[in-house]
Amino acid sequence: MSQSNRQIRLAARPQGDVKPTDWEHVDVDHVAPGEGEFAGVTKLISLDPAMRGWLNDARSYIPPVGIGEVMRAGTIVEVTESNHPKFAVGDHVVGTFGVQTHVVSDGRGCLRVDPSAAPLPTFLGALGMTGMTAYFGLLDVGALKGEGETVVVSGAAGAVGTIVGQIAKLKGARVVGIAGGQEKCDMLVEELGFDAALDYRGDDLRGALRAATPDRIDVYFDNVGGEILDLALARLNMKARVVICGAISQYNNSTAVAGPSNYLSLLVARARMEGFVVFDYAAQYAEAAAEIAGWIGEGKIKTKEHVVSGEIDEFPETLNMLFRGENVGKLILEVA
Ligand code: NAP
Repeated sequence: MSQSNRQIRLAARPQGDVKPTDWEHVDVDHVAPGEGEFAGVTKLISLDPAMRGWLNDARSYIPPVGIGEVMRAGTIVEVTESNHPKFAVGDHVVGTFGVQTHVVSDGRGCLRVDPSAAPLPTFLGALGMTGMTAYFGLLDVGALKGEGETVVVSGAAGAVGTIVGQIAKLKGARVVGIAGGQEKCDMLVEELGFDAALDYRGDDLRGALRAATPDRIDVYFDNVGGEILDLALARLNMKARVVICGAISQYNNSTAVAGPSNYLSLLVARARMEGFVVFDYAAQYAEAAAEIAGWIGEGKIKTKEHVVSGEIDEFPETLNMLFRGENVGKLILEVA
């Protein structure tokens, strides 16, 4: 009897928040791997705010997911059958295999990971795209100099934010995080060593940010956009760098993205604001991952993964956790 492959496909382009009816859950036959291919079973699925953007039919850095297509996702699979010279049964492989329980791959764009070197979820977090985003966004786009500089990061308790803050700390900067809720803020200071953390849901973020950045901001690493970006722009130091990593506060908008009204602060501070896409650094991933692995080994970076265990059908609900701030660190669905 042929094995069944459960897939989560895009059924409709969401308007505003993503609804259960925007997805279809489909069973198809799982085909055997051909010559030069391997088959695998999905173990872990990465949940990323960018997924919301991939659902829109709009110009972006990557084509949108088509209606009826399997949802795009970075995953880790375990190889169950192989006719591929480089991948053996039992190997764990990271790739963009999509939200489905079973995959067949020719191995292009995949990477074998070693679960004895780090726990599997870390290969989607600090040693995966998340870590790469934090590393290149802060050190290359943000051009962090280190000691004497102040870094502010929004979405600070999330996947990218937790790594940005810790890299900035180990480079000697003063680090201020902005996150939702006192519990997340306490974790950032007490567990991850941030110098200060501000709850943006509190009464006076403007005043709190002013108090926490007496020397103003040299690098603002923005994960959220909207009003928080505006407040940060008003605190820039001379020659500051504003890193546009993402704008999660805007992703579910059904109206136009709210632009920053304080952008003339860039002029006054002779500052720059620059966006980036992590994929552009692919040629340097291995080098960056090795350095981050070293920092993890030395205890200078603590990895934070938020692993939800469940059926693949729980993907839509798990994705929405990102937009409700229900994750701490890297959100991952571990497929039962
Ligand atoms: P994440 O931060 O782990 O998860 C999203 C977090 O965003 C939530 O936990 C929530 O935390 C916060 N959030 C949700 N709605 C918000 C709102 N309306 N206002 C303020 N904060 C809100 O996700 P991630 O994977 O690390 O991604 C962070 C950002 O990086 C995203 O914007 C993503 O698109 C971007 N990104 C960019 C690249 C690139 O190449 N440029 C690559 C990867 C990721 P709170 O509880 O604190 O609200």
